[in-house]
Amino acid sequence: MAANLDIIPLYQWTEVKQRPLIIAGPCSAESEEQLIRTARELSNFSSVNVFRAGIWKPRTRPNYFEGVGKIGLKWLQRVKEEFGFKTAVEVATPQHVEDCLRHDIDMFWIGARTVVNPFSVQEITEALRNTNVPVMVKNPINPDLKLWLGAIERVYQAGTKKIIAIHRGFYTINKNIFRNPPLWELPIALKRTLPQIPIVVDPSHICGNTEMLAHISQKAMDLEMDGLMIETHYNPSIALSDAEQQITPSTLNSILNSLVIRERAGSPEFQNKLIELREQIDEIDQELLEILGKRMKIVSEIGQYKKEHKITILQLKRWSYIVEDRLKTGMYHGLEKQFLEKMLELLHTESMRLQTDILNNEVIP
Ligand code: PEP
Ligand code: MN
Repeated sequence: MAANLDIIPLYQWTEVKQRPLIIAGPCSAESEEQLIRTARELSNFSSVNVFRAGIWKPRTRPNYFEGVGKIGLKWLQRVKEEFGFKTAVEVATPQHVEDCLRHDIDMFWIGARTVVNPFSVQEITEALRNTNVPVMVKNPINPDLKLWLGAIERVYQAGTKKIIAIHRGFYTINKNIFRNPPLWELPIALKRTLPQIPIVVDPSHICGNTEMLAHISQKAMDLEMDGLMIETHYNPSIALSDAEQQITPSTLNSILNSLVIRERAGSPEFQNKLIELREQIDEIDQELLEILGKRMKIVSEIGQYKKEHKITILQLKRWSYIVEDRLKTGMYHGLEKQFLEKMLELLHTESMRLQTDILNNEVIP
């Protein structure tokens, strides 16, 4: 089912014709002044497309700053009017959706803590039904591709075709240089399952600090991800949430300016075909290695047999026959003579080494 979702490409519904789509703004809306100041500084640089701000903040423990609530939506309306940014807010309940709709918020995102709960995702998507508001779905905190996919499917089934996946890294119990290690194989697997889904990478929540933001942003571009969401505050040191990972608008600008955006390897059709061919190669290599393993096992048996019968390892006549025969067969299958000679020599050397070890009792076949 997933592979057939008719998700609308980013360039058809955003102003972004060339990646990356840039989403920036503070972790949380804290005050009208903070939002306006941050937005004003961001508006000095042309690269930002969407202004983000958390209004209701999911905190691990109670009694921490839990967001300013509905009042912040009015400030975001000002940001939109004064600076022309599209606005994006995290929604975690149907009530959030309703409040945002009433304040003309342009895009919603479902946070990592919410995506882990299909009941919540379902309720939110019911509230979204027929609104046509674009929705961004963060990966769940735990590295579970199906949960991520499932949330995307629920959004889609509510009638929204403007969907973006956000990769924000995954929780780990082990100590790690990242706050949420990126486990790139997961967003890549998502892309493989759902080639049409745009993926925006959130280096802020992956890194949890500011030092590695540029590196992760570049990596995201090199892996052909479609955009970046980076937490930005006019003065990160006084931020009420995620202070360690926020950067100023001008630091964001220098990170974005230093990005090298390489050409994509080709059209989606080209990519899909390439992925398909590579999968075939992977399978063949598996078989090849399995067969090589079997060959070496028999080589060991022969070695043991020769040892028991006190016969020398190197049997030149047999080897000359193998080379002649395999060259003929290999060339018949379109393989180059030089390549075959090298490969046979490698095989022979390894077989001799194995049999010598057996003779010296180092290997028990
Ligand atoms: C956020 O974007 O501020 C946020 C809470 O992110 P996440 O859901 O990825 O933890
Ligand atoms: Mn945050």
